[in-house]
Order: sequence, then C-alpha cells, then structure tokens
Amino acid sequence: MVDKNQTTKTISIDKYGIKSATIHYQLSATELHEETLQKNQGKEANSGALAVNTGEFTGRSPKDRFIVKDDITRDKVWWGDINIPFEADKFDALYDKVTNYLSEKEVYVRDSYACADENYKLNIRVVNEYPWSNMFAYNMFLRPTEEELDSFDPEWLIINAPGFMADPEVDGTRQHNFAILNFTKKIALIGGTGYTGEIKKGIFSALNFILPVDKNTMPMHCSANVGEDGETAIFFGLSGTGKTTLSADPKRKLIGDDEHGWTAENTIFNFEGGCYAKVINLSKENEPDIYNAIKPGAILENVIMDDNANVDYTNTSITQNTRVSYPIYHIDNIQIPSIGKNPKNIFFLTADAFGVLPPISKLTPGQAAYHFISGYTAKVAGTEAGINEPVPSFSACFGAPFMPLHPTKYAEMLSKKMQEAGVNVWLVNTGWTGGPYGIGSRMKLKYTRAMITAAMDGSLEEANKDNYHIHSVFGLQQPRVCPNVPTEVLSPRKTWNNDEGYYETAHKLAKSFKENFKKFESYANEEILGGAPLGG
Ligand code: ATP
Ligand code: MN
Repeated sequence: MVDKNQTTKTISIDKYGIKSATIHYQLSATELHEETLQKNQGKEANSGALAVNTGEFTGRSPKDRFIVKDDITRDKVWWGDINIPFEADKFDALYDKVTNYLSEKEVYVRDSYACADENYKLNIRVVNEYPWSNMFAYNMFLRPTEEELDSFDPEWLIINAPGFMADPEVDGTRQHNFAILNFTKKIALIGGTGYTGEIKKGIFSALNFILPVDKNTMPMHCSANVGEDGETAIFFGLSGTGKTTLSADPKRKLIGDDEHGWTAENTIFNFEGGCYAKVINLSKENEPDIYNAIKPGAILENVIMDDNANVDYTNTSITQNTRVSYPIYHIDNIQIPSIGKNPKNIFFLTADAFGVLPPISKLTPGQAAYHFISGYTAKVAGTEAGINEPVPSFSACFGAPFMPLHPTKYAEMLSKKMQEAGVNVWLVNTGWTGGPYGIGSRMKLKYTRAMITAAMDGSLEEANKDNYHIHSVFGLQQPRVCPNVPTEVLSPRKTWNNDEGYYETAHKLAKSFKENFKKFESYANEEILGGAPLGG
C-alpha cells in the first residue's frame, strides 16, 4: 500500500454547497485506515484488515432507493416498487440539507472512476462523512493514476452522509435513510445509512441506465473470469448465490466479482476496481483466495472479533451479511485491465433452497431467456422466526433492484448477444441437495466448482452429448455424468430418497415460476415462452 497521500493536489467543494469543510482529499488506504482507528470508528483485525460496524443498516434498503423523475428518466425508467420516483424539487431541497449538514465538518473526498474500458470510463467524485466509507470507495472503484488525477474532471458526484437523518414528512423520503439517483444533475445522494454497499450499487444503478440507453452496452449483475485459453466465463446470480465465491478460481484470471458491461465490440469489462465478498462461514480451506485477500487494505464489515482480534466468521450476531471489501489486486490471479472477450460460457447461479433444481443443467436459448427474465433464487426464512420453509424469490435479470429499465430491455440485449456469441448457458444450483432447507444440505462447493470446470473445459458436454436427461418438471437438460462429481449428486430426485416429496416440491416451484412470469408473458415470444417449466 501507498503510505502517503498520493497527491499534493487540492480541491474545493464549495461549489457543491459544502462550505468551510476540512477536506481530506485522496488519502491513501493506509491513512484512511489510521483515521478510522483514531476516530474510534473501527478496529484492526489481526490479519491487519480494518473492521468496522456499518451501524443501523447492515444491508441495502431497496425500499429507500429513489430515482428523480425528470426529462431524462420520465419515459424510460420502469417506475414501480423497484424504481421509486422522487420529485426534482424535493431532491434539491434534500440535497441542500445534506450539503449543509456536511458543511464545516471534516469530509473525505476521493476521485475515482467506474468502467475498466477506456471508452466507457465514468469519472466519479465521492464525498464521504466517514473515512472508512471513503476507503471503501478506494477499494471498490477504479483508481486513477497521478497523471489522470491532475486533469481529473468529475462527471458523477456521490454525496454520502450516513449521520444525516431525513425527516420523511418534509423531505419526501419513506424514512430517515435514502439513496437517490439524479440523472440530470448526475448525483447519487445517500444519507441515514452507513451500509457501504449503497455506494457501489448507486453507481451500478446509474450505469444500468446510461450504458444501454446511451452506449449500446449490456450491463450485467455478474462476475467474470478468464481461463488460460483466453475464454471468458460470466456468472449471473442474485445475492448469496456464489458470484464472488465461484469467480475466485486460482486457475482463472479474475475480471470482476459483481458488475460488468458487454459491449457492441464483443468485450466484457468490469465496472469496478475491487470485490465485496460475503464472509459468513468463510474458511481458508474452502475459499483461500478470498481468505488471503483479507489483509491490510481490506475492510471487514459487521464481524465479531475475540480479544485477540481474531475474526469469528461463524458469528452472525450482528448480521448474516458480514462482508469484506478489498481492491482487486488483493487477489493473486487477475486480468489487467479488467477486460475479456465475448464469453464462451454463461452460468446462471441460483441457491434453490427447495433442493429440486439440478446442480447443473444446460439451457436452450429459450430457456436461457426465460430464466434470465425470471431471475430465480430462494430465500431462507429467518431462523429466529422458527420457520424452515424456503421462499421463492424472483428478481428479473438476476438484479432487478439495480435495473432502472424494464427487464425485457436487458433480456432482449442479452438474447441477441448470446446468439451472436454462440455461448453455452448453464443453470447452476448452488443451493440445497438431498432435500429442502432444513432437511437437505448446501451443495458442496467442491462439487459446484468441479461442475463449472467441466462445463468450461468442454468435458461435461463431451460426456453427455445428445444424452442429457430431460428433467420432467423443469424441461432442463440434466447431465448424467460429470468428471470429479459423484453421479448420484447430479440427479436431485435421487438425492432426496423420497420421490413423492421431490415431485410435489418440484411442481410447486415450477408453479411459482409460472405465476411470476405472467407479468412478462405479453413481452415474450414463442421461443421464450417455450423455456418455461413443463410441470407446475
Ligand atoms: P452478492 O451479490 O451479495 O455479492 P454473491 O453472488 O457474490 O452475492 P457470494 O458472496 O459468492 O455471493 O456468496 C455465496 C455464499 O455461499 C458464500 O458464503 C459461499 O461460501 C457459500 N456457498 C456454500 N456452498 C456454495 C456452493 N456450492 N457454491 C457457491 N457458494 C456456496
Ligand atoms: Mn458478490
């Protein structure tokens, strides 16, 4: 790490309405780490990583995410519960309050950018109330060189004031916290929450509008890596399905773990400069790359440490969503810059807590579009409620909370690109096997990795060519054999030991798929509709 402030440049932020603030501009990660300790806002873990508590919020708050409804967004955004409109003048008033709140305070300002491909670069200036939030921005966004910094012209502004509480009655928010995007002013305004994920997902949301609308580029909630053969693989999936875990593969170069664009020039690029991994039950044995990335420069969130500053990754007393952020160079095997060519394999990851989807299956183009629009995973009900029943969760494009446009816009782009690139699409169940949550167990990471490896090196196709089992309920092509995976694991029905229970649950899930898809039916063609489950 660089120990000293990398620049002698100074900036003023008066023009943003933040007056007489003490500005800490472009501090190094080490300096921000130290500042955080000095201000008693964090502790040092014995790995050397910084450990912070994000406060009241330990996850994103989708109900408090707004988009300003104006001439740019009015006719393009898919308004509703996901993209909640916010009035422009309410935004202006709230912006004034937040900037007034930050005035005369110490603030941490960082210039950075998103999008690893030069042609798509989006310059970002982040103003944070807290040093560790600014260090998060250092970790997660791309870091300009000193030369780039000299001539840096910020395009988007992120104002991040976790300590500012909105007054819903006056400010037009739902409650005291908010994350609001303003495309006309190019501002992300975040207040009342210290959860750092809001910072990166704010810019992700912005790019999910800008790239398809202005740049003919498909934005994706996926991870990506590239093999020794130069072939790119991408992994779509909702939170907790394994994007970060499975893209960290020592044999493949990591492109990125969460947000990518697929360009008209047949390339894939990372939006970010770092990773944000879940650390619940993290072990060195199962996930060595992530484990080893937790060192000075990394920020642990909401973990519990013992008296010797050892982290207990099994302790979820603050939240299940314990996290670590680190710059991508903490991973040994990375692609520099974070760009790959057209993918050869696309994986849709799902954590099926019903335990009925095959651990891996091959999708037809119609099924690929159907499953992309569906965006299925399952949530396991809170253990404290004493409920063991999983709840199906459908989130279009495997990332609905971040997609300002109608899901079919993204689906159309993806279908076209998949066709042009001639990719293989696989549905991977990283969730339960041997029964639903409560009875079965989570799929062994070792097996999931082996299945993905076999899909990528062609040995899975080779071993099952023209001989896949067609799943009677989901219509998916289920391989009969897979190198390095016990054959009985490949058929979820066989792992259950209870055919009746299996089919009952499978049909129930198939029915949920169909229920959910109703709202998209009028947009889908015959091929996509043909990708629906057979049962249900
Ligand atoms: P987010 O979008 O929130 O970042 P993500 O898709 O990146 O989520 P991960 O951070 O990779 O999800 O989380 C997957 C979690 O599931 C990890 O804690 C991992 O250890 C665990 N896990 C257990 N079994 C498997 C498996 N078979 N495949 C993938 N992950 C597994
Ligand atoms: Mn992730």
